[in-house]
Order: sequence, then C-alpha cells, then structure tokens
Amino acid sequence: MIVGGGYTGLSTALHLAEAGASVVLLEAQAIAFGASGRNGGQVNPGLRLDPDDLVARFGAERADRIIAVSGGAPDFVFGLAKRLGIECDAVRPGWVLVAHSPATLAKLQRRGEQWVRRGVAMRALDADETAAMVGTRRYIGGLYDPRGGSVQPLSYARGLAQAATRAGARLFTHSPVTRLEKQGSDWIATTPRGSVAAPQVVIATNGYTDDLWPGLRQSILPVRTFQVATRPLGHNLERSILPGNHAVSDLRRLILYFRKDAHGRLIMGGRASSTQRGGARLFGFLTGVVQDMFPQLGRPEFEHAWSGTVALTPDFLPHIHEPAQGVLAALGYNGRGVAMASVAGKALADRVRGGRAEDLPLPVSDIRPIPFHGLRQPVLHLIMQYHRVMDWLGR
Ligand SMILES: Cc1cc2nc3c(=O)[nH]c(=O)nc-3n(C[C@H](O)[C@H](O)[C@H](O)COP(=O)(O)OP(=O)(O)OC[C@H]3O[C@@H](n4cnc5c(N)ncnc54)[C@H](O)[C@@H]3O)c2cc1C
Repeated sequence: MIVGGGYTGLSTALHLAEAGASVVLLEAQAIAFGASGRNGGQVNPGLRLDPDDLVARFGAERADRIIAVSGGAPDFVFGLAKRLGIECDAVRPGWVLVAHSPATLAKLQRRGEQWVRRGVAMRALDADETAAMVGTRRYIGGLYDPRGGSVQPLSYARGLAQAATRAGARLFTHSPVTRLEKQGSDWIATTPRGSVAAPQVVIATNGYTDDLWPGLRQSILPVRTFQVATRPLGHNLERSILPGNHAVSDLRRLILYFRKDAHGRLIMGGRASSTQRGGARLFGFLTGVVQDMFPQLGRPEFEHAWSGTVALTPDFLPHIHEPAQGVLAALGYNGRGVAMASVAGKALADRVRGGRAEDLPLPVSDIRPIPFHGLRQPVLHLIMQYHRVMDWLGR
C-alpha cells in the first residue's frame, strides 16, 4: 500500500506492480496534486550537495553509490518515459547553471571540477557563451551539464499513473489516509470512505506530509515556491531566448529556474514563502525578474501563475526512513525531486520486495523532528530575508 500519488508513490506503485505485487495507492486529492503536478519540469542530476561534500559526509564507498545513483537519475527518468511511451515533451539538451556573482561562479567551477573528475563532460561557460545559450546578459558565466533536460511534469506523472494501472496497480484518488495502525501482521489505512489492509506501507507525501506518521511532518520544512508561464513566445523571440531549449538554474541562494516548454512559453520559477500568504507580491517579483532579464519581451504577458510546496531538510538531502517493520517513507528532495523521487520510488519498490537496505540510494535514517518546528514560519522568513540580502550583495 502506498500513501501519496506523486512521483515517489507512482514510481513505487509502477515498479511493484510490474514485479507482480498487489498494489493499492491512496492519494488525498488527485494524481500529482502535490509538487509532481506543479514543478518546473527540470530533470536535473545530482543532489544539493556536491560530490566531495557527499564523500566527506558518507565516506568514499557509500558516497560513490549516492553520486552514481543521483548523477544517473535523469537517465532513469528519460529511460522510463521512453520505455513506457509516456508523452511528456521529454527533451534532453542539457542543464545550464548560471552565476550572477564571482562567488557563485567559483562555486560552479568547483562543482564542475568534481564531476569532471568523475567522468562527466561538464564544461565551464564564459559570459558570452552563457548569454548566447540563455538569451540574456545578466550572467557572468555558467556551467553546462549534459545530463539534464526537462519534461512536462504533469504529463510525466499521469503517464506513470497510467502505466502503473496497466501493470495492475489500483490507484484511489480523493482518499486521504487519516490513520495508520498495525493489526496482526497488517497495517490498516483508514480513509473517510473505507480502509485498506496491507503488510507493507510506503509513505510518499513529501512537502504535503501531514500528521499520519509521528514526527514525519516535523522532519521537513515545507516551503511554497512560485512559477509563471508567458504566452508562447513566437518564432523570433524563441530564437533569442533559450534557443537550444536548455533548462536553466540561477544559483542564487533563493534559486531561480527557467526553461521553455514545448509550445515556446517561458516558464520561470523561484522565490519562496513559508506561508500561504503573499502570493501576489511573489508573482509580481517573478514578473519583474522576467522583464529585467529579457527586455526583448517588452511587457511580458503571463498565461499562467501557480505555486506548490517543496520539502526542504536541514542537511539538504532526501531521507529514507523505516520507522517500523513494514513501513517505509522517502521525502525531502529539496526541490530536486523530478529525477530523484522517480529513482527513490523504484528503490522503495525493491526494498518492499525484500531488497537490501544497503542498496537503497541513501542510508536509512531515523526520523528527526526539527527543533522548534512550530516556529518555522518566522524563522524561515528571517532566513529568506538574509538570503535575499546576500543575493543582492552577490555573495
Ligand atoms: C513549484 C515547484 C517547482 C519545482 N521544480 C522542480 C524542478 O524543476 N525540478 C525538480 O527536480 N524538482 C522540482 N520541484 C520538486 C519536485 O516537484 C518534488 O521533489 C517531487 O515532485 C516530489 O514528489 P513526491 O511524489 O515525493 O511528492 P508530491 O508530488 O508532493 O506528492 C505527495 C502527495 O501526497 C499526497 N498526500 C499527502 N498526505 C496524504 C495522506 N495523508 N493521504 C493520501 N495522500 C496524501 C498529496 O496530496 C500529494 O499529492 C519543484 C516543486 C515545486 C512545488
């Protein structure tokens, strides 16, 4: 039984059903109602921590596996979409990371060197190359990573759901699990309309985690992030803005990310809020960014604006938990879940089928509630203000 119908839950359901297991997935709202149906669609490799940081933290042997799995995560997504015939506008021209300050550029150079040492054909971009690839002169340089690309996020999620259903999984929407309790050898999940019994449960609720499992909600910081999409740019503008259709991340502390979709819309995401308030101001901020960065757009017209919740963790790493026999949870992708959640879902399915814990992409960790979690909104607000100032100072 799986709780949550985003990439983590859908990938778990798919891989279990393909292996012949009996699978029920319970989703509180609609399939991909959470981040999986609202994200920027960037299929990016790696984790927030650079390879050398992972080695320092986990030791060479464990880190090598984490680096290989997270670095290869886009291969997994594009391979899966192809194998299942999912129509999700998958493109893989590479990922461009851009720097607005010398400090960020130095950080990118260090990152590039670490991956090049590990055989990835990343390359540094000077200001002219960056401007040509992105279509703006706002950056002093960047880093090209050939492994990245993008998908239409909701289509990808729906494709996974259809494939899981074809393989025999039963997916129930509008079925919030309000209680999980052990009865004999089974876990019983209660929803307002009925209950499900299963020997194993996977909790895949990420930034939308509620109080279903003790302490899990308090182990992550849910942060709302915003996106806007212009009207299709039209042929001339498309040739000047992201002409190679790269996905771009601007590595300010308060990250900005953008790409074009298959219809030529510019989709820009970024800025974060710890509350449900302030949406209009934050959408306004993104509008200003688009105008400043791409003056060739004139006054940009937006067709869509939306937001969703990501799960941040204090160590910037995703976490896999096994808090009781027969219970698994994976969450905390820190805004990098399109690829990693898909991979995590397959790994959880393997574990449910008796695979070794050591073969999971990350070591199993205890659920650690963040101290003073109840105060997260004012604390996050202060942290964001601090990062805003540091970005402005170019530090
Ligand atoms: C605006 C935005 C932009 C992003 N951009 C990118 C990007 O470009 N690239 C990238 O790699 N990542 C990006 N991310 C992050 C990425 O989308 C997530 O990491 C990923 O989708 C997580 O998938 P998930 O299945 O773990 O969680 P989710 O997709 O959030 O799914 C969790 C589901 O659990 C359900 N649920 C919660 N509680 C219960 C319950 N009690 N019972 C039943 N169901 C429950 C929720 O309704 C929800 O549908 C972005 C996220 C957002 C919000």
